[in-house]
Amino acid sequence: MSWQGIEGHDAVVERFRRSLVAGRLPSTFLFVGPAGIGKRAFALQLAKTLLCEASPPSHMAPCNACVSCRQVEAGTHPDLETVAKEPDRTEFRIELLIGDLEHRMQEGLIPRLSLKPTRGQRKIAILDDADFLNVASANCLLKTLEEPPLGSVLILLGTSEQKQLPTIRSRCQIVRFRPLPEETVAKLLLEKGIVNDPFEAERLAALSGGGLQQATALADATLLEFRRHLLAQLARPRWNSVALAKSINAFVEDAGKEAPPRRERLRRVIGFCADFYHQLMIYQSGGEAPADPQLREAVAAAAGDWGGDAASAADRLERCLDALAHVDANAHPITATEAWIDDLAHAPL
Ligand SMILES: [Zn+2]
Repeated sequence: MSWQGIEGHDAVVERFRRSLVAGRLPSTFLFVGPAGIGKRAFALQLAKTLLCEASPPSHMAPCNACVSCRQVEAGTHPDLETVAKEPDRTEFRIELLIGDLEHRMQEGLIPRLSLKPTRGQRKIAILDDADFLNVASANCLLKTLEEPPLGSVLILLGTSEQKQLPTIRSRCQIVRFRPLPEETVAKLLLEKGIVNDPFEAERLAALSGGGLQQATALADATLLEFRRHLLAQLARPRWNSVALAKSINAFVEDAGKEAPPRRERLRRVIGFCADFYHQLMIYQSGGEAPADPQLREAVAAAAGDWGGDAASAADRLERCLDALAHVDANAHPITATEAWIDDLAHAPL
């Protein structure tokens, strides 16, 4: 089933349908789920539904033809505000919410959201990258989350509940988006022209963990090859931590001269390791081996002879998540990688 071209989230669609039919739509949401599964597309479609001037929201069928629908599509609707962390920053700056020092409360999302709607009944805001809100930015959102302007809807997008500050989490309706089924990922890869060969689409979908973003990243043969190399190392009972850190650092530097693409690549490499230890932990607790063939092979090999148990895998998973947090907090990539890999290699079994 798909809702207006949005695949794989029927349960979430039903939840919104029920609230809208009952006329009880909460005003603050936190959408969580892995990157690349369509949370932003869903939020935009919901905005279109709520702003459409031809079809009532409870029908969940925006007409796609009225001025309002066309403006949402073009990103020009005066009552739809969107904001995201700047790509070259590691934190979601407070200025994006309340303006800089000279324009406090004159610019930014919060004052814009409190203006009267221009076209219709409400204003809608989509705040992307909520994982990166720092304490100051989160604090200045609290009042808006508690007492949103009448009729407004604020949607925060993040990858997991754990990454949100408790003050934010407790003030939002949490909507969980599940990873997409493999066949949906394969279909989307073909539809969006990311790959043209159906076999390639299926192969990438199997490695995607249910996210289009990972599938798209792995369409890059270099990244796919590095993942294979990395998993082969991790699968061995012992490995040379200095050599592995060196090869990761060289791979990260190959992403380009600028910091953002390097950081993005390192995040992905750490993500591969986190996935590996997560799956190893599940497998060693008696759970199923992962469907992804590369990961399955590595997990089965490791479980056979590394000598650790589910708790040892969980420790290492935690270390990977810490490393990811350090990278997001702008730690120096080379130093962060060396410390992280050294910890993984020498953590007790
Ligand atoms: Zn419309």
